[in-house]
Amino acid sequence: MFRNSFADAAVHPAFRARQRGFAGLGPVCRSCVRSRVCGGGLYAHRYAPAADPVFSAPSVYCDDLAVLVDHIGARLRRDVAELTAPRGKASR
Ligand code: SF4
Repeated sequence: MFRNSFADAAVHPAFRARQRGFAGLGPVCRSCVRSRVCGGGLYAHRYAPAADPVFSAPSVYCDDLAVLVDHIGARLRRDVAELTAPRGKASR
C-alpha cells in the first residue's frame, strides 16, 4: 500500500485472476447448470490446495449455493407467473 500504486496491484496475477469471470472458474463450475447465477461463489471459498490453479475448485458452500440458487429461481418463476397471469387466474 505504501510502496506500490493501484496500477501495480491491478496487473498482479492474483488480482487479475479474480477478474476472469466465467473463464476463471474450474471445470466443475464451468459445467454446472447454476454457474451463470452462482458464479462459483466467493473467490476465497474456491481455494483447494490440490486444485490447479488453487482457486478453481467449487465453493466450499457449493451445496448451499445450489439450494439457494434453485430456491430463488423457483420463487422468481412462480412470482413472474403470478404477475403475468390474467387477473383472477393466479393462485399461491
Ligand atoms: S459452486 Fe457449486 S453451484 Fe456454484 S457454480 Fe460451482 S458447482 Fe455450481
